[in-house]
Amino acid sequence: MDFDLPETHRQLRDVVRAFCEKEVRPNAIEWDKQERFPKEIVPGLAELGLLGIRIPEEYGGAGMDTTAYAVCVEECARVDGSLALTVASHNGLGTGHVLAFGNEAQKRKYLPKAASGEWLAAWGLTEPGSGSDAAGMRTTAKRDGDEWVINGTKMFITQGSVGGFCVVLAKTTPEKKQKGITAFIVEHGTPGFRASKHLEKLGMRSSDTVELSFENVRVSDAQRLGQLDNGFIDTLQILDKGRISIAALALGLGRGALELSIAYAKDRKQFDKPIADFQAIQWMIADSRTELDAAALLTYRAAALADQGKPFSREASMAKLYASEAATRVCNRAVQIHGGYGYTREYQVERHLRDAKLCEIGEGTSEVQRMVISRHVLGA
Ligand SMILES: Cc1cc2nc3c(=O)[nH]c(=O)nc-3n(C[C@H](O)[C@H](O)[C@H](O)COP(=O)(O)OP(=O)(O)OC[C@H]3O[C@@H](n4cnc5c(N)ncnc54)[C@H](O)[C@@H]3O)c2cc1C
Repeated sequence: MDFDLPETHRQLRDVVRAFCEKEVRPNAIEWDKQERFPKEIVPGLAELGLLGIRIPEEYGGAGMDTTAYAVCVEECARVDGSLALTVASHNGLGTGHVLAFGNEAQKRKYLPKAASGEWLAAWGLTEPGSGSDAAGMRTTAKRDGDEWVINGTKMFITQGSVGGFCVVLAKTTPEKKQKGITAFIVEHGTPGFRASKHLEKLGMRSSDTVELSFENVRVSDAQRLGQLDNGFIDTLQILDKGRISIAALALGLGRGALELSIAYAKDRKQFDKPIADFQAIQWMIADSRTELDAAALLTYRAAALADQGKPFSREASMAKLYASEAATRVCNRAVQIHGGYGYTREYQVERHLRDAKLCEIGEGTSEVQRMVISRHVLGA
């Protein structure tokens, strides 16, 4: 059993790491303070292939595998959770849905623009009244000749205002509940499609999160994504892969915080010694490193299974559950190791802690992951 990444993936990791150190680290604290989506970084992300990681080369993407996707998200998160969330959700959700279930015309239209960064992708499942119970959505799409008329509201949508298009899930046959939901692609500028102002959040502050409203939004049947009434079944597959990326995001946030803590502990002196000499600090670092290694093994196992075409739903949920809760613990310890300075915005670890908490909530809360895992284990 080989626990090392293949050479190609290690090279990719080094390239993404160098980019993040040069272009992202000097700005991340300021972007967070301003709660501003950094549009200026988008061309750089596209040039590196980070906006079309899994999109095949024939559609302008980098044509890489799920392991590469996890590596890229982890490396971005090591420096900036918000940027990693952009990369994860753009690739895994909006673009991922078109890639997995789009027809040829849809792939030709949307994937090259997604890979080039001309159009960032958003994905609208959650609503004000339905989150964990996503199939309880109220947004509807009613057929009118060759068109569909969409009405409803979507909540917490990443890239909702800065994206070029949004994949939106709507009830097409409400009486069939989760078997009556269909996905549609709605482009920005379509009459009746509006984004609210940026939502103010605990963390992930420079990621764009908005409420979207759909008021008699008309789209042609050519904008229907996947089979009629199969949108929720397709969504479960999208979420499975998305959970690998959130696990990688959590892992990166934890890794970044631990690296900062180690450097700080060696540098900061109290009682005439570096605080790294105190057993209390050493144990925190040992626990964090151990938990992050466990998270990495779970995350890259799930990615490897996906790449081998094997079932990975349970493993993706386990990775997401463990990595996100471990990241919160690791980032919390990082603040503790930094003492009072860790509690200030001048140091990066408080941002890592705030960002890590999202990983326990987005793309299925920890409680939902436990439900998914226990169903697999119990064969329910
Ligand atoms: C920053 C951010 C970005 C997001 N981006 C997107 C996006 O791009 N697209 C999108 O569609 N959504 C997005 N979301 C939404 C996210 O996926 C939901 O917030 C999440 O699924 C939880 O739903 P909820 O917030 O409605 O919480 P609820 O479902 O109301 O849950 C509240 C609490 O109840 C618990 N709970 C619920 N049901 C059960 C149960 N059966 N058993 C035990 N406990 C239960 C939950 O675990 C949680 O602790 C984003 C959210 C955030 C905060």
